[in-house]
Amino acid sequence: MRLLVSNDDGIFAPGLRALANTLAQAGHEVTVVAPDRERSATGHGLTLHKPIRVESVTGFFHPTVTAWACSGTPADCVKLALGRLLPHPPDLVVAGINQGQNLGTDILYSGTVSAAMEGLFENIPGVAFSLASYTEPEFTVARRFAAGLIRQLAHQPLPGAILLNVNIPAVAAPDIAGVCLTRQGVRRYTDQFDERTDPRGRTYYWLAGTAVEDEPEAADGAYTGSFPTDVATVKSNKISITPLRYNLTDAPGLDTLATWSGLNQGLYWLKD
Ligand code: MN
Repeated sequence: MRLLVSNDDGIFAPGLRALANTLAQAGHEVTVVAPDRERSATGHGLTLHKPIRVESVTGFFHPTVTAWACSGTPADCVKLALGRLLPHPPDLVVAGINQGQNLGTDILYSGTVSAAMEGLFENIPGVAFSLASYTEPEFTVARRFAAGLIRQLAHQPLPGAILLNVNIPAVAAPDIAGVCLTRQGVRRYTDQFDERTDPRGRTYYWLAGTAVEDEPEAADGAYTGSFPTDVATVKSNKISITPLRYNLTDAPGLDTLATWSGLNQGLYWLKD
């Protein structure tokens, strides 16, 4: 398959190299366009107020990989690749392998997921891979699973422009307890700002915080279905696969609001 590979940890991140090289060795036509520095948690940001530059990267990836380092965000990278750098549209946009999980609210902040999401905007399906550890440097399980999943998708393409958000527990292969289709769970952060004082006596803040996972469904109206959450699945050492879309319409909320009479009379509010 023709694959565009990107990430948010930067062009020299070990997870990106593991992914791109594994897919190239499996015979796929791989082009990497990735940020020239770490861009984690930049979400779907775009660079509008300064130029975007790209530089060819040689000698770092498998010899059949074409690679570019880009000064922009993950979304910039994919947008530029699809709009200018690639001679043909790819069959799939593949992002990762991110160092750290992308579960629950992480998904909205994630540059990894956004890279793959950018492909969806152009009707190209995508897969975002994340290893559920911020420190574990071992990507063998994750890259093997990625190669297997991409091989499967070559035989059985996704039904339309769908994004698979894949999270792999950071354990050895024998300790992986299974592979699960999941729904987006709840993972948010508390105590987020550490308040400190700089040498000139001025207060500054440092974003930190601890994750709160799978509280009683905080997200009202969220799809529950019968599928386990991504959070619970990774916690039980299973690989989690959640299909995502970018349309955030709250369907139950829409149905409820439609029964309100007040909104239909909104034009009266404009009269004085
Ligand atoms: Mn990252």
